[in-house]
This record gives sequence, C-alpha cells and structure tokens, in this order.
Amino acid sequence: MLETLWIWRDEQVVKRLSWYLAVSTNKMPAKYLICRRIPVDVDFSASEEELWDAHREAAKTFQQIHTGIKKGELTLRELERPGKSFMDLKVELVKRMLRHCNFCRWGCRVDRSEGSKKGACMLDHISRVSSYFHHLGEELPIRGVRGSGTIFFTSCNMRCGFCQNGDISKDKDNGLIVDPSQLAMMMWELRVEGCHNINLVGGEPTIHLHTIVEAISLLGSVQPTRDKLTYLWMMKPDALRWRRLEPSQYLYDGELNTPILWNSNMYMSMETLLILRELVDIWLPDFKFGSNACSIKLARTPWYWETVSSNHKTIYDWGEDIVIRHLVMPNHVECCTKKVLSWIAENMPGTPVNVMDQYHPDCFADPLSPEFDPRYSEIARRPTKEEILEAYRYAKKLGLAFESISLEKSVFGLRP
Ligand code: SF4
Repeated sequence: MLETLWIWRDEQVVKRLSWYLAVSTNKMPAKYLICRRIPVDVDFSASEEELWDAHREAAKTFQQIHTGIKKGELTLRELERPGKSFMDLKVELVKRMLRHCNFCRWGCRVDRSEGSKKGACMLDHISRVSSYFHHLGEELPIRGVRGSGTIFFTSCNMRCGFCQNGDISKDKDNGLIVDPSQLAMMMWELRVEGCHNINLVGGEPTIHLHTIVEAISLLGSVQPTRDKLTYLWMMKPDALRWRRLEPSQYLYDGELNTPILWNSNMYMSMETLLILRELVDIWLPDFKFGSNACSIKLARTPWYWETVSSNHKTIYDWGEDIVIRHLVMPNHVECCTKKVLSWIAENMPGTPVNVMDQYHPDCFADPLSPEFDPRYSEIARRPTKEEILEAYRYAKKLGLAFESISLEKSVFGLRP
C-alpha cells in the first residue's frame, strides 16, 4: 500500500505531495477527470487567440472546482459531462500549436503537422515510445510498491553530451510509432496493473505534447483488445508479469483514475505549462545547470537558466505537487549544484529535492565509448565521494527538504 510507506511520515513530503497521494490512492479524482467536466463555450474553428481566451476562462473555473473538491465541498458526481469540455479545448489547442510548434523554449515555429521542416527536436507529428513498464527505480513516493507506470518517449529538445538515456534521446527513430489511442491503452494497462502514477518521460515528453494530451483525453474510453496489446507488448519488458487489481482500486465513479506525472527537463514554453497545469497531478522536473555557460557547454542549450528557473517558480507559485531532481556532476558542484540548490532554497522553500549521486559518464562523456568527445573531459568520470558529500552538506546548510527523498537509495551510502 502506497500510503503506508515510511516516506509519508516526512511532513514536508506529505505537505508537498498530498494531492498526488490522494489521487494515487483513489481518494480524489485526477485533474483530467475534472477537466472533462468543465464546459467551454467556443467554436473550435475560432482563431487560436480566441481559443486561448476560452482556455483562460475555463482555467479559472477549474481552479474553483479543484479547490472545492480538495476541500470536500464538491464531488465529481455533482458535475455533468458537457458536450464540449476544457479537455477537448486543450486537445484542439495543442493541435494548433503543432502547426507552428512552440511546445518548448526553442520556439522553432515549424509546422510539425506537415513535417517538411524540422525544429531542434527533429520531429514531425509522429511520436514514438521506446518502452513502458513498472519502474521500480524512481523516488520512493513515486515507485511505491508496484512501480511507477513509466512511458519512455524518444528524442529530446536538449543535447546533453552526458545523457543517461542517450539511446532514446539521441535516436529519434528508436521505438515504435504510437498514436494517442495506443498511448491511452498503455496508460490504462499500467494503471490497471497497479502502477501508482503514469510517468511521462523520455528523452523529453514536452516535444510529444500533442500525442500525450490527446491520449489523456481518451484515457479509460479505449480499452485494449488482446491483439492490440500484443503489438504494444513489444515495448513492455514486464508484460504479463503483473496481475490486474480490483477495479475499485483504479476506477473513480466508474472512470479510470490515475495521477499524471510530468518527468521533464522543464525546457518548455509558457503555453505548454498552461496546457499542462490542469492535467498534471505531480511534477518531477530536472534542474541541472547553474548557468547558461554550463548548459551551452554540456548540453548545447541556450537560455537554460532563465527558462528552467522561471518554469520551476511558476509551478511552485501555482501550488503544484512537485519533487525536483538535481544530478550532481563532477567538477560542477560549485557552478551548478550550489547555484541550483541555493536558488531552490530561496525561491521554492519546502520543496522536496532529490540530490542525485548516480551520475556516470555516458554518451559523448564516456571515455570508454568510441563516441567520446574530449570537450566533455571534465565530466568523464563519476563524482567523488567528497563532491557528493559537499552537495549534501550544502543542501543541509540551506535547510532543503532532501534527506528522505535522496538518501534512501544513495549509491555510496553517504550521509551529510
Ligand atoms: S518541440 Fe521544441 S524543439 Fe521541437 S519543433 Fe517544437 S519548439 Fe522546436
């Protein structure tokens, strides 16, 4: 049982993840179920600007209803399913965005629906999944006892030379093509098998926003047949290993209920954040670099600091459930770890942080790989124990909520 794990005795974890826990344990409806019940009064052939106006209005209604539900003053059952909903509006908006893609900070403005020109992610409208399974290696509140229902999308909008998932982030053609209904089936299967959440990751999920939002809109309404599952199982290494739960554990008022988890580099546009706000129940963002100099050098990514810090702050100010991940990298404790942790302490107090010690040189930073590029020499080793300890000591000095999240899986068994 997720809620009986010792991690929930940590007050800061409970405080920041209470919505997620309630949805995961089926005591509250996921945000997408609320979105489906908010009517919108706009013609979907209207201009994109008019659609965004309608989105702003619906978002206000959502916040009122969400607050009412959280306080127990309102139930999902009291809300009718309208002909045209906030959820439908989001699906329409992401399709429009795809035609001049502004999903992420690159703002390439290419028409990905047509695909004749590619942006920085090199994708057209097609989404591919490399694998999906019960992930038993995530943070304890997320992996729980039956795993996090993780779906790995291919390709990325950043170019980290050390990527720990390089096989899927660098190879946009890795994996199998999935459409929204197949993606919804994967989500359904993972949740029915007891996963505590649907964990959307990559590569990077942001660049697949259109496929993901449409899949969420279909969640629960498409149930896989054996034939369809057989195709999907080519991507599921743990197929048939988990038994299905009783429906009472995943149906809420008769509908599939699951927390949606956004596991991202946070290099997204404000428009993407606005779309996701009423769909994502828990955020699991990376905060890697302490400066644009480091992000350009190690990830060939400009405008990193202002984009990613601003997106983190927005999520925090919205009061979202969140766990931040920071990967400690060799020779980057002073310029990245300390800068990022200080910024979190100052701007997002009380947020659980995973100070991660498992960095290993990979991709172009791996000195044993034929791909090794000497430009990544400074990160071509694991961090030393002293570097990890310094990161922990610094986090502790700042008063960050990091110990219960970070140390239960510490590679070195180190303590600050
Ligand atoms: S997702 Fe980002 S990188 Fe890809 S085309 Fe859109 S704006 Fe460009």
